[in-house]
Amino acid sequence: MQHKKLKQIGGLLILLGAMSLLHAEQKANIVIVATGGTIAGASTSSIRSPAYQSAVVPVDRLIAAVPEINAVAHVKGEQIFQVPSENFNDERLLKLGKRISELLKQRDVDGIVITHGVDTLEETAYFLNLTLKSDKPVVLVGAMRPATALGTDGALNLYEAVLVASSKEAVGKGTLVVMNDEIYSGRDVTMSDSLKVNTMRSPYGPLGLVVEDRVLFYRQPTRPHTTATEFDIDKLTSLPRVDIVYNYGNANPVAYQAVANAGAKAIIHNGTGNGSVAEQIIPVLQEIRSKGIQVVRASRTGNGVIIRDGEQPDDRFDWLVAGDQSAQQARILTALALTRTNDRQTIQEILWKY
Ligand code: ASP
Repeated sequence: MQHKKLKQIGGLLILLGAMSLLHAEQKANIVIVATGGTIAGASTSSIRSPAYQSAVVPVDRLIAAVPEINAVAHVKGEQIFQVPSENFNDERLLKLGKRISELLKQRDVDGIVITHGVDTLEETAYFLNLTLKSDKPVVLVGAMRPATALGTDGALNLYEAVLVASSKEAVGKGTLVVMNDEIYSGRDVTMSDSLKVNTMRSPYGPLGLVVEDRVLFYRQPTRPHTTATEFDIDKLTSLPRVDIVYNYGNANPVAYQAVANAGAKAIIHNGTGNGSVAEQIIPVLQEIRSKGIQVVRASRTGNGVIIRDGEQPDDRFDWLVAGDQSAQQARILTALALTRTNDRQTIQEILWKY
């Protein structure tokens, strides 16, 4: 009798072990690639930020601070940089993209989370959305408040980013950005406020939401991304120099001349309104174009489609216009376009396509 009972208990334990193994196998394998930013920031004050420093907390401590993540996924951390994101440059963008591409090729990696400063997060997101060649989820996440602040958003944002990267629904949607319970497409997300936790927005709204532990998508990105683009991170060795010049009343040609002399291959004219060009700026843009440098008109409003041959005779001047991209997005896309062609018409089609 005693023997039979022991056998039954043994059987039950084996069953429980097998079930927990099965459960463990169902959890996604996520790599958290850390680049720095406020999500890895710290301060000696919980309410004021004079002693605040961005990019100081290592990735393993970020992960350890959110043990809830372990119920969602098997996570591994990797520290690629430890920088505030205003220090991102094209070399770092390429290095990050290539490492993400390597990880995505690993069979034991189901998705990636990239912790990133919020300042230039949108540029990295757009770049990866255009150049990674995988359907696996890649989610960028940042924070507006360091972990040491009252009401910090970093821990919850990281948890939600892992949740989204682990979800089947995120597969094939391109690079995503998760912050403040919202899921955005890396194509058109932008930082809209210098302080608020709901800083991320898109003119088209979020693709979905994270509600407690549920990932809820309501929309799909429609512009080609990742596997459907002509840009491949593995084939890129450098990016051509593209600079942005900001406009305002009383703008003058000096900044244009400076970036042209410094070797820019294209200049994004971040114009007022619909990418307007003031009369005193037209001659310098014509001169720049005559040297073979591409000129792209964008809008400093950060929203709206630029009208080709509207107020400005783009055909006559041989200029380009952004689609609905902000100047910083147009910089990324123009640089990628220039890795393939210098033909004005082809670059224009690329600006309208992505
Ligand atoms: N300046 C910081 C950065 O972009 C701010 C942040 O991460 O939130 O890295």
